[in-house]
Amino acid sequence: MAVELGVLGLQGDYAAHGAMLDRLGATWHVIKKPSQLDGIDGLVMPGGESTTLIKLMDSSGLWKAIADYAALGKPVFGTCAGMILVAKDVINPAQRSLGLIDIGVERNGYGRQIDSAEVGGIFRDAEGNRPMDMVFIRAPRITRLGDGVEALAECRGDVVMARQDRVVVASFHPELTDDLTAHRYFVEMVA
Ligand code: GLN
Repeated sequence: MAVELGVLGLQGDYAAHGAMLDRLGATWHVIKKPSQLDGIDGLVMPGGESTTLIKLMDSSGLWKAIADYAALGKPVFGTCAGMILVAKDVINPAQRSLGLIDIGVERNGYGRQIDSAEVGGIFRDAEGNRPMDMVFIRAPRITRLGDGVEALAECRGDVVMARQDRVVVASFHPELTDDLTAHRYFVEMVA
C-alpha cells in the first residue's frame, strides 16, 4: 500500500513507532516541522509528556499545522500523551488539547502504584476478540466516550483504544510490545 505516514518526532519514543511501521512495510517520515506534513496520509502522535509536547508543538508551529491537517479529515493515531493531545477534554490537571476525538481523559489516571505495567487486554475488530499485551506508562485513563466513539480495546474494565471517524487513540504504548495489531489497524485504516 502506497501510503506515506508521519510520526511526530518532537519528544518520546517515535523511533519505536517507526520500527513497528517498518515491520508492516509502511513508509514513514519523522515530523519535526509543519512543512513535513505535506503529503502525509496518516500521522502517529507518540507518548511522552503532554505538557512539554504542547510547548514544543507551539514553538515549532506544529500545533496549528496538526489542527489544520486534522481539519482536512486526515487520519491521526494518538498514543498515551498523544491521546491526551487529541482528546476533547483533559483533567488532572486540565490543559488545552486539539479536541479531535470526543473523549474525556484523566492524565496519570491509573495512579502511582501502577506507574508502569505490562498487562493483558482484549482487542476487538470485525474478526472478533483477541488477547493483546499492553504497556502502560503513567498512562492517561479514558473517563468518557462520546456517542460517535467506538471502543476497540479494553483492559481491566476500561476502554484503552478507541476510534472516531479517522482518529484512533490508545492509552497504552503499542510500540513497546511485539504485537503489531494496533499499528496494523491504523495503517489499514489510512490505506
Ligand atoms: N503522563 C504523561 C502525560 O500526562 C503521559 C505518559 C506517556 O505518554 N507515557 O502527559
